[in-house]
Formats: sequence, structure tokens, C-alpha cells
Amino acid sequence: MVDLAIVGSVALDSVRTPFGEVKDALGGAATYSSYAASFFCKPGIVAVVGEDFPKKYLDTLKKRGIDISGVKIGGKTFKWEGLYEYDMNEAKTLRTELGSFASFQPVLPESYKEAEYVFLANIDPELQLAVLEQVKNPKLVAMDTMNFWIENKKEELLKVLKKVDILLINDAEARELFKTPNLVKAANSAIKLGPKAVIIKKGEHGALLFMDGKHFSAPGYPLESLVDPTGAGDSFAGALMGYIAKTRDPSEKNIRRAIIYGSVVASFDAEGFSLARMTSINMGDIEKRYSEFHGICEF
Ligand code: AMP
Repeated sequence: MVDLAIVGSVALDSVRTPFGEVKDALGGAATYSSYAASFFCKPGIVAVVGEDFPKKYLDTLKKRGIDISGVKIGGKTFKWEGLYEYDMNEAKTLRTELGSFASFQPVLPESYKEAEYVFLANIDPELQLAVLEQVKNPKLVAMDTMNFWIENKKEELLKVLKKVDILLINDAEARELFKTPNLVKAANSAIKLGPKAVIIKKGEHGALLFMDGKHFSAPGYPLESLVDPTGAGDSFAGALMGYIAKTRDPSEKNIRRAIIYGSVVASFDAEGFSLARMTSINMGDIEKRYSEFHGICEF
């Protein structure tokens, strides 16, 4: 059985930043989030990749103990091309090719249906909904999304939002979805629709939690070696959900800790292209950076 069922893109990413570029590298929201979650629990991915998808990429996930029995193979892989300039908080999307995701009908393996934790990573909200309908009795469901889906499938996205416990979204997308420049208002609008908690990711500036009438603000880790922030939001969400699944404690206090673990793993992700940095760290590295956060937040 998997602890955390994740649906989201598994992709071939071509990314350029001021520090270099990669072509058709392993990427996608489900890839980053499952890898980050695997430091804490056993995740399983629901996705589709094409015949063109390198087998070694699937092996990277499998070797890490990620269940990939929910990854279908057929047609063409999702491709994303992005560019970052010196303000690395925002990716400019140059191209999105949905490939096989355009007609994908997710079918959950039996071993995923009992998962107590579910992460609906960034993908078509109709697929997020289809996965949610197949899990039997989840304890906690979180979702992420992005401007592409806000602009193309807003109605479906709001339908998913009404069924989840946690909304993870970045600041620009929260403003766009709730049509307000004010993040507090955006979070309150989201909470009125159903979720118990809203987590707004602010790139290198950290993250905000709105829950139980309280507000928590986590700083970003002061990184000197920023190389490519692609997947940082997904890594943040994966580590956060992985930690909640491991501790089986979705209280506001514990979600604060989960946010710090999310920030730590996201900071490692941004130190390299694709999974380069994340595949070189261990739990000791994560704990060391986690404890540094106490110093960063103390005053
Ligand atoms: P992040 O940097 O965490 O926001 O996510 C970057 C990842 O999202 C990349 O690896 C892309 O493959 C993936 N991605 C980009 N656009 C989309 C989209 N429209 N739907 C799903 N995943 C996407």
C-alpha cells in the first residue's frame, strides 16, 4: 500500500536559467513531489508518459521506492519549456505540450485506493477530480495548480477546490484565481470554498499558512547557490505532504513543521537542474538545514 497517492505531470523539461540549461530533463509536478515525499513516506504516482520517455528516468523513481504502478505508458510525453531570468521567482513558460495527458483517463491501482493521504499535484483539474473519486477514505487531501489551469479550466479547478483540505498555490496564482492583489483576502476567499488550510508559496521569500483563524509565515532558506528553481513548489508540497503522512498529524502546529521541511527540500531542489541535487542528499542533510531554520526565525 502507498502512504501518499500523487497525481500530476511526469514530464520532459527543457529549462534555461542564467546559470545554464537542460533539454528534455526529468521533470513534472508528480516527479518532483513524489521524490521529495519519498524522504518521509512511500508515495505512489498516477500519470502517463509516452513511448519516448527514457526508461532510466522511471528507474530513478523506482530505485527511490516510489510506486510507479500507476504510471501508464503510451503516446507522447508531456513536455514543458521554461525560461528564468535574473528574477528567478517566476518561470516564463515558452511551450506546454500536453501529449498523452490530453486524453489520459487515470485508473488507480488497488494499492493506491486505500492511501490515507492524497496530493493532487499540478495537472488538469479533471484528472485531479477523477483520482479523488477513486480513493476510498482519505484522511487528508491537498491540491496544487498553476496559471495554465486557472486560465483554461477555472470551473473544474473550483470544483476540486471544494473537495480538498489544503490548497497550495503560489502568490501570483492566488491573486489571479481570486482576482485580488491582497493575499489575505485571496486566502480567506479560498477557505470560504472549503479547504481548512491555504498555503501560499512565495518562491524564494518563503510561504504563508492560513488555518484555524491563525497565520504562520515561514521564511525562504537563504540560498547562495540557486541554479534552477523548477520544481521547487512541487518539492515543497511533496515534502510537506510526506511529513504529514509520516507523522499522521494534520494539526496546525504540525503543518507549520511540515512547511519548514517543505522549504528545506525545495531549497535543495533549486541548487541544481532537474533532480540533480535532490538525488545527492540524505535525511541528515535535510535535518541539518531544518535545524538552521530555528536560528533564521528566532528573534
Ligand atoms: P514548479 O516549478 O514547482 O511550479 O513546477 C515545475 C514543473 O511543472 C515542471 O517540471 C513542469 O514539467 C511542470 N508543469 C509546467 N506546466 C505544467 C502544466 N500546465 N500542468 C502540469 N505540470 C506542468
